[in-house]
Amino acid sequence: MKRFSRILIANRGEVALRILRACKELDIETVVVYSSADKDSNYLRLADQAICIGPGPSLQSYLDIPKIISAAEITDVEAIHPGYGFLAENAHFAEICRSCNIEFIGPSVEAIRSLGDKAKAREMARSVGVPCVPGSDGVVKDENSALEVARHIGYPVIIKAVWGGGGRGMRVAHNNISLVNGFLAARTEAETAFKSPELYIEKYIDKPRHVEIQILADNYGDTVHLGERDCSLQRRHQKLIEESPAPGLPAEVRGAMGEAAKKIARAAQYANAGTVEFLVDRELNFYFIEVNTRIQVEHPVTEMVTGIDLIQEQIRIASGEPLGYGQEDIQFRGAAIECRINAEDPASNFRPCSGTITRFVPPGGIGVRLDSHVTSGYQIPPFYDSMIGKLIVCRQDRGAAIATMRRALDEFQIEGVNTTIPLYKEIFKHFHFLRGNINTGFIEEYFLG
Ligand code: ADP
Repeated sequence: MKRFSRILIANRGEVALRILRACKELDIETVVVYSSADKDSNYLRLADQAICIGPGPSLQSYLDIPKIISAAEITDVEAIHPGYGFLAENAHFAEICRSCNIEFIGPSVEAIRSLGDKAKAREMARSVGVPCVPGSDGVVKDENSALEVARHIGYPVIIKAVWGGGGRGMRVAHNNISLVNGFLAARTEAETAFKSPELYIEKYIDKPRHVEIQILADNYGDTVHLGERDCSLQRRHQKLIEESPAPGLPAEVRGAMGEAAKKIARAAQYANAGTVEFLVDRELNFYFIEVNTRIQVEHPVTEMVTGIDLIQEQIRIASGEPLGYGQEDIQFRGAAIECRINAEDPASNFRPCSGTITRFVPPGGIGVRLDSHVTSGYQIPPFYDSMIGKLIVCRQDRGAAIATMRRALDEFQIEGVNTTIPLYKEIFKHFHFLRGNINTGFIEEYFLG
């Protein structure tokens, strides 16, 4: 069996550091690529080699495929880990890696392609008996077809980009006029953001919970799920706080969702780590929405409750090792919560803040994990997303995890830029949050009203 001896990390920031850590523990050499805007990042020193691939803008660095492949060839790596974002779900990139004989640490080109098309992914889910949100059969070609779908499923509806992601480009419509206007605007947006104007439509579920299942699958057909993450606390359809287990989710619903996720993974002949996302309504019915064919930002909460290092598993699987364990071997312990620490001002509509972090004093103590590449004096480049780290806690139950998170948020000192920490301090005191009464409208309802 081949074992990787050197891996290139095609990403930046906290996830580049996360992958570096996993490689070090596996005794794998690392090559990290960086843009000139990241040249002073501390994690670069931890890599065996660091290669500058261009200026700050992503198109000229972290999204520049020829430069990344050249870096990989010069350094003679056997595999590339794409992290999340950038090229992580780019089938074309995975294909180029394959044609250059470099292992792409992620699923196959075919799986990325078929699941990246969200309309096709819905069809695949339905074909194996997994419930989807009611909506269009495939792509909706024009406004008239959109009106036809809405007539059939009833308002409100949500218009989504077939190749969309990152919570962007979705529009909710409550009547015919807003549907037609929203459809035309969404098409233009999708064309610009995702290079495809294709749209589909779903029933807009009122204040659902977002619950997703982590899966791992090897190249020999063995698939397990690692339980769920509740990612209902969002702003603008983007996650801020995630936890596992999902509060109050009955064991039979969890089990059924896990089995549904595995069915979809098998139907797509999926290998490596992936996440099957669902919405859960008030009656605890669950509906498939999409598959993310990569490691996700919120993967640490699953690591904390299962004790499984997901990045190391991704590397092992990509190198051809079998999983070596089955569903019954996965044990869940305690409760974990993650807060995304974003350099944003929650008081002015989450406006991103770039600038220098003049003081950075991380929290510590029992049950606290911090995944961050930031140190005092760090300059936040204006080119990338606003996440500067993730604070994760894990304790014996949700109540204890919340107490630890409150303490850790209090200890955490970040000066020089605004962050989401003050908002989180309020959330972790909120009556409904403490009782697990959460849904995707929670932050809007109680904190942005
Ligand atoms: P993306 O890939 O852009 O993140 P998703 O399909 O994963 O898009 O949806 C992101 C979020 O948008 C969900 O977590 C949920 O809050 C909201 N959302 C998506 N589809 C629906 C729907 N049919 N009804 C209600 N909310 C939805």
